Amino acid sequence: MQIISDISGLRAALRTLRAVGGSPLPRSVGFVPTMGALHAGHRSLVLAARQGCNVVVASIFVNPTQFGPNEDFSRYPRTLEQDCQMLEDERVDVVFTPTADAMYPAGASTFVDVEGVSERLDGASRPGHFRGVATVVAKLFHIVQPDFAFFGQKDAAQIAVLRKMVRDLDFPVEMVICPTVREPDGLAMSSRNRYLSAEERRQALSLFRALQAAQTLADHGEHRAAALLKTMRSTLEAEPAVRVDYLAVINPDTLLPLENVAAGGLLAIAAYVGGTRLIDNVLLCSKTSL
Ligand code: AMP
Repeated sequence: MQIISDISGLRAALRTLRAVGGSPLPRSVGFVPTMGALHAGHRSLVLAARQGCNVVVASIFVNPTQFGPNEDFSRYPRTLEQDCQMLEDERVDVVFTPTADAMYPAGASTFVDVEGVSERLDGASRPGHFRGVATVVAKLFHIVQPDFAFFGQKDAAQIAVLRKMVRDLDFPVEMVICPTVREPDGLAMSSRNRYLSAEERRQALSLFRALQAAQTLADHGEHRAAALLKTMRSTLEAEPAVRVDYLAVINPDTLLPLENVAAGGLLAIAAYVGGTRLIDNVLLCSKTSL
């Protein structure tokens, strides 16, 4: 496994890897962008990439432009050595670990703004967050030029923003969305879970519990968003230490509110547990085809 931190070095390595094997066709490249502090959720993306692509590239970059001034950029967990070990175990070909100066040279003033979706859900709570995400992913796509890029369902709003960016700007990449990986008790895996104390870890389970309660209701035929929201809210209120940021029943592509989920929809939650902001969601499928 090659660990490369400069852009021109990465491009040179990929030129070689694409051409290896003597095939007249270039080999497919799968890309897994991450911020490191890797866990089994990230691993599932790497496994999917390894299964479907000839060459697998992962990036580890804690992107400063997607953090607000009062957010956790400086204390975000950085575990590069363990991360590289895991990626090597999963037979990743190249890990790209750029510095912030390489990604944002002095004077850089070009950004990607995906208007509309970027102001909804996490974008409403974290102004500028999705501008940072779209800009860094656009840059990474230009640098790596993947055929397939792998993302987790866990970050549902990010998927909506990036799908729209790919469509609007004609990136020649196919986005592959992998299911949310959970701890055995249901908590969605997240690099930020390591901020939680034992008591907060217990309280954090209420996010999944709230989603499950609403999903069960929907499975039993309750399609009114207001009723699903009420159930989510009352489940979360049973854990008073958890402070809700948003509860939403929305169209997963536009992130706009739905009144009815008979044709499917996304249930999404963001909440603070202590000082840690956690997100989770579940996709409801349309029952009409069953
Ligand atoms: P991050 O390192 O948090 O920026 O995440 C990198 C990628 O891993 C994103 O596509 C996330 O959606 C994905 N991811 C994070 N947590 C999970 C999880 N629990 N299950 C599946 N994918 C995840």
